[in-house]
Amino acid sequence: MNYQQVIEEVYQEVQEKNLRGKVATYIPELASVDPNQFGIALVDLEGNVYGVGDYEVPFSIQSISKVHTLTMVFHVFKSKLWSRVNVEPSGNPFNSIAQLEFEKGIPRNPFINAGALVITDALCSKFEHATKQVSDFINELAGKTCVSINPSVKNSEKNHGERNTALAYFLKAYKNFDNDVEEVLDVYFSHCAMELTCVDLAKSFSFLANDGYSIFAQREIVSESHARRINALMLTCGFYDEAGEFAFRVGLPGKSGVGGGVAAVMPHKFSIAVWSPELNEKGNSVKAIQALELLTDKLSFSLF
Ligand code: GLN
Repeated sequence: MNYQQVIEEVYQEVQEKNLRGKVATYIPELASVDPNQFGIALVDLEGNVYGVGDYEVPFSIQSISKVHTLTMVFHVFKSKLWSRVNVEPSGNPFNSIAQLEFEKGIPRNPFINAGALVITDALCSKFEHATKQVSDFINELAGKTCVSINPSVKNSEKNHGERNTALAYFLKAYKNFDNDVEEVLDVYFSHCAMELTCVDLAKSFSFLANDGYSIFAQREIVSESHARRINALMLTCGFYDEAGEFAFRVGLPGKSGVGGGVAAVMPHKFSIAVWSPELNEKGNSVKAIQALELLTDKLSFSLF
């Protein structure tokens, strides 16, 4: 399979479509990126890297970091975790407050903001220096020191973090939050403000394409059974209220972020990261989704 040729074709075809969306503005600092950037990096299970466009430019991974944080607590808390957060698609926007009240403080899944805040709370219970542990973990997964936290993005989100703060206090009111709210929010905003290139992000997802074993970290990160479950969650919940559409159009487990990134895996074949900042109304990158749809069409395979 000539992956380099395929991603170059995909890149060209997406560019020709001249798709437009809007960069996220509710985190003001995210609105300052050049909206025309577009990169694709694919990493196969031998560690070969294929890239096109802005694939070596670091960008804000935002909610994609929720896959890394979930991975860190999954094997620590095991099935106990699933009494605090469910595993159902939300069918609602990622920052919905109404749903959390309706469901009495148990978030629908670990990838909407409420669920991710529970995961970050669990992370803070386990790790004394949670932010550092998250970046160390991602560096290990990528096989090199590559994570940086953008302080402007972090502070920008912190200064406009009313909804996430409300969600965290709501969780506390329902006794589904153990640590200090401000402390957990700081860790949450920090991991959302981490920056990676498409190459390093794709490498950090490689273990999910490889039954839990990372060829870059050279160790088993999670068991095969946990890897399957994280992939199932990405497939059903990775794109919020657009998860069905992503499964329909692309058919790969993946996770998006409002920085415009999408990371996805084709089990037993490759991991891939695509980035372009302009988003659709659901908060997912317009070009990244189109690129992944074209990719699975050209390769003639997906999960299905
Ligand atoms: N940091 C963002 C938030 O909490 C992440 C959202 C996203 O990427 N979908 O709102």
